[in-house]
Amino acid sequence: MRAEAITEADDGWTGEGDGSLRRLLSSARTQFAAASRKVGQKPTQRLRWLIDAVQRPRDEMIEELRLSSSNLAFELCVFAGIADPREYRSRFVELVQAIETVDRSARRLAQEGRWLLEFPGDVSGLVIERSFRQVGVRRRAHKPPRGEAFFDARDPVVKVLFRIDELIASDGARVCECLSATCRLLFVKVRRADFCSERCALRERKRRYRSRLKERERVNHQNSEEK
Ligand SMILES: [Zn+2]
Repeated sequence: MRAEAITEADDGWTGEGDGSLRRLLSSARTQFAAASRKVGQKPTQRLRWLIDAVQRPRDEMIEELRLSSSNLAFELCVFAGIADPREYRSRFVELVQAIETVDRSARRLAQEGRWLLEFPGDVSGLVIERSFRQVGVRRRAHKPPRGEAFFDARDPVVKVLFRIDELIASDGARVCECLSATCRLLFVKVRRADFCSERCALRERKRRYRSRLKERERVNHQNSEEK
């Protein structure tokens, strides 16, 4: 990475010389570390980060991606395994379109249990890797092993879509829609949760309690009229 390139691309950057590059790199390191913590490593953590990210308001997302200090760009880098956040900052339009597609696909997954991911029209430079066995490991089974596939792309936006698809393949069944009629947020189900949050669960419990109470009053009223 050339220092000039970084300095030019970073609007908030006014320093010069080695000191400024050092400071820039150290702030990038700090942001990468924070992004790694936020995205997480376990599939359920990564999936939760993703589902929260795709449901963010689009204007807010575009505004943030355009900033040189965009946390979201760093988080996307961590998620997709990309080294330079500028790859996302410069492609924010395509990226937000791709995120919109993922948001719709995730909604459909939660409602119908079906995952369909459409890639942008001009995809090129795709890489598919399938591995069948580790070298030196002898298999006794007669059944040939199923190939494990790894899809990759040079395009950073397509790369992020492949990582999303991978995550859905392993943990997609956890993507649910909050059962609260006034919420309907997508969330990642762990254990037996039906609601996205404790707040929604409580609101729904109260609502059901009130409607049971009303029903009981109605029945009592009917009974007293019949007497
Ligand atoms: Zn909810």
